[in-house]
Amino acid sequence: MQTLKLAIQKKGRLSEESIKLINECDISFPSSSGKLVTAAYDFPIEILFLRDDDIPDYVQDGVADIGIVGENVLVESGKQVEEVMKMGFGKCRLSLAVPRNMQYNGVQDLSGKSIATSYPRILKNYLDTQQVEADIHVISGSVEIAPSIGLADAICDIVSTGSTLLSNGLKEAEQIFRSEAVLIKNPRLSEEKNAILKSLLFRLEAVKRAQKNKYILLNAPNDNLDKIVALLPGISSPTVQSLAKEGWSSVHSVITEKDFWEIIQQLKEAGAEGILVMPIEKLIY
Ligand code: ATP
Ligand code: ZN
Repeated sequence: MQTLKLAIQKKGRLSEESIKLINECDISFPSSSGKLVTAAYDFPIEILFLRDDDIPDYVQDGVADIGIVGENVLVESGKQVEEVMKMGFGKCRLSLAVPRNMQYNGVQDLSGKSIATSYPRILKNYLDTQQVEADIHVISGSVEIAPSIGLADAICDIVSTGSTLLSNGLKEAEQIFRSEAVLIKNPRLSEEKNAILKSLLFRLEAVKRAQKNKYILLNAPNDNLDKIVALLPGISSPTVQSLAKEGWSSVHSVITEKDFWEIIQQLKEAGAEGILVMPIEKLIY
């Protein structure tokens, strides 16, 4: 029987969340403890622990069948793989930053300037669409110090809070690319491997959907039941059961995290009592 080889980042910002998500799919494996490959106990999958930059390459070549990697790394790599699913974590942005005291009125101001980056492909793409010609300086780390040591006029790098920029005397000028972790696959998987991937995706969808929703239980006065039910669309429609207490019902439903507090408040105002909200482990439509 074949196994599906999944590449994840060995050590870094994507490692913990990748492992957590796999575990939440009820797939468990021994902790990496320095090993490059480990087989899951209860699912036909092997986990490869790699540097994130190597993942698109390995998936393209078929050393790994699928992988979890940042879109920034994927697009920069230019590798021929398929993006299968957005993972909902590892969110960050790639930005242009300039010295704080520079008069900056728009990306045209970077014409003829030098820009240091570890993302030459994404930067070049962006500059081309903006019709700006600049000199791209490729450096692999500590990009943010380039302007202060006179290596470049500006930089293009990942920004999360902006505090690293600030402490290097820089300011964010343009956001050029938004990224999150994605699941990628080799386009030429065997039928058997595609079948394993399909069941993995089924579990991942259920876990991700569950994370976005909450189970809600409440008591509603029958007089206001219509109003309360209308606030709770649920997956199809809420469950309503009579309570032993005369004139009251128990209402169960699923609500999304997005407008969660707003709905709770409206439910309370509509007379709901004993509102109980619980996390959902898996959610399958
Ligand atoms: P490796 O040793 O595997 O090459 P790395 O140092 O290149 O690791 P990390 O810093 O762990 O990589 O970041 C991995 C990915 O996490 C990035 O490529 C990006 O997609 C994402 N990410 C999310 N938030 C941030 C952030 N604040 N800074 C940098 N990367 C981030
Ligand atoms: Zn890396």
